[in-house]
Amino acid sequence: MYQYTITKKALARYHAYHPAYFPIIFLKEVFEQLSPYFNLWISAELVTALYEKRERENLYLLVLITILGNFVIQVAGAFLRRASDTAREVLDNNEAAAFYQKTLSLDYDKIEDPKVHLLRRKIRENSYINSYGVVFMRNLIEMLFSCVIDILFAIILFAEMISFLSGVGIKWLGLLLIVLMVGFTAVNIVLQARNTKKSAKSWDRVSAVMLDENRLSTGFPRTGMDNRIYSQQILINKIYEKSNKAHFQAFSEAYRKIFALSVPNIILFKLSEFCSYLVVCFYCVLGAFPVGSLIKYVGYLGRLTESVGNFFYILNSLKTNEQFLATYLEYFEVKNEMYQGDLAVEKRSDKQFEIMFRNVSFAYAGTDTCALKEINLEIKVGERLAVVGENGSGKTTFIKLLCRLYDPTEGEILMNDFNIRKYDYRQYLDLFSVVFQDYNLLAMPLGNNVASSAEWDTKKAEKLLCEVGFSERYAGMEAGLNTPLYKDFDEEGINVSGGEAQKIALARALYKDAPFIILDEPTAALDPIAEAEIYSKFDEIVGDRTAIYISHRLSSCRFCDKIAVFDHGRIVQVGTHEELLSNTDGKYYELWYAQAQYYA
Ligand code: ADP
Repeated sequence: MYQYTITKKALARYHAYHPAYFPIIFLKEVFEQLSPYFNLWISAELVTALYEKRERENLYLLVLITILGNFVIQVAGAFLRRASDTAREVLDNNEAAAFYQKTLSLDYDKIEDPKVHLLRRKIRENSYINSYGVVFMRNLIEMLFSCVIDILFAIILFAEMISFLSGVGIKWLGLLLIVLMVGFTAVNIVLQARNTKKSAKSWDRVSAVMLDENRLSTGFPRTGMDNRIYSQQILINKIYEKSNKAHFQAFSEAYRKIFALSVPNIILFKLSEFCSYLVVCFYCVLGAFPVGSLIKYVGYLGRLTESVGNFFYILNSLKTNEQFLATYLEYFEVKNEMYQGDLAVEKRSDKQFEIMFRNVSFAYAGTDTCALKEINLEIKVGERLAVVGENGSGKTTFIKLLCRLYDPTEGEILMNDFNIRKYDYRQYLDLFSVVFQDYNLLAMPLGNNVASSAEWDTKKAEKLLCEVGFSERYAGMEAGLNTPLYKDFDEEGINVSGGEAQKIALARALYKDAPFIILDEPTAALDPIAEAEIYSKFDEIVGDRTAIYISHRLSSCRFCDKIAVFDHGRIVQVGTHEELLSNTDGKYYELWYAQAQYYA
């Protein structure tokens, strides 16, 4: 017998998403299973009453019971069906929310960890195939309820039939038929257990093909501009044709095997059903029970043999599903390993916070090479620091470490003389406003985007939007800060250009009013005039904050107090623009002239 440890664990988690769900389903199944038994029972009573030519009143009473009984069962069933549909919605929503919350609560390095990423992907992909995972478990549990209730009803009525047999005694032929009926069912169960494993293997091949297909469909944005310009449709269609062929082959092969496996099951099931009919007829002829009961017992026994078969199919399928549940549970068991200190960050309106990188090196998970090597740098209060360097030289990684999205592999980062790991993480993050290169705006009103909260200070938000050069577009927005961005949730939503979005992201960073403002290529999407406008008032915009600024446009770094030049993960030069340019052998000189020659 299987252990079902994983199913139990997954079920405990899943049940907690909506504890009322399974009790509602159980009740619904009770009423759904009651209906056929009640009708078999009442039909038998009616036939017997007619056969025995009972009094009219007796017949009327039976008809009344039939109508009333069916009415109660149907009404209760309909009510419970509605309740279970609603409960399923709640359960699905809570499950999706729990999954989303788990993702949000993960340390950033875990989100980017290829292993965790693969887990998330596998869970999604498994759910595409047969809903494997928690939904498949839920469906099987629902089937199990109906099966168990069916078996219980059938056993109670089977016991009634056996009690009638005592009147005629156990005849040899009757006994033989009962043994055959039980024997065929037992063999069927054993065979079915083997078949479930074999058919699961056939589905494995289908799964592999479907995973490839799913990856293809997410990998090709078929409406993309590049697709059209480079006529990629032909290439994509060829790949799809190939994958469709593989899909068709895998499915037909799996169905062929599953059908071949099911033939003996069907034969055995029919044989046991046939024996059950013979048993009932045999004892009926001997006068063990009235003629009407023939219908009843034939029906009950048929259901009993079918339900017993289903019961074992469910148990086997629950076991097959455990591999998918294991992936699901593994994701929820991913632990945050980042040290979370509890040192409170001092609340300072004068923004007196200094940062010091001491011998910091860092390698991303799953890589051997260091993205940052022995970084030593001090960032003083109110300073404007520019970070420059070629692509891949480590600039963004430097910012990610400063914001504690990752911890250094070696060395330490200090803030006001304490290792940043010691601070309360949330309070530490509150010190930073960052405009990342791949920032995201929400499909929500402009005010929510600028304030990053449900409420906003209209005056402050409008002033900042004006400072970052968004005033012209803003003047055309009738709903002002209530204007929804994008059309995802609102047809009235506006689409913004790359440059406009970047301005909104800048306004959002300024709205937060954190002591540090970090801008990673903050003007990459702006036109030259908008860019020049922002730089001309950069000092005014940044105010008394400490600013760190990453840019490829070296001319825009000139206004910074200090420039750190990154090369292959190291800081190779630090100084003012003039100091760095005076070193004709330096990296900065090389970068500067590589750009400047086109402006000469
Ligand atoms: P820059 O911002 O200067 O262009 P990055 O800091 O983004 O450079 O990258 C520095 C190095 O780290 C590069 O070699 C890059 O390929 C690698 N890198 C960046 N992000 C990841 C990541 N999530 N996982 C593994 N390697 C990464």
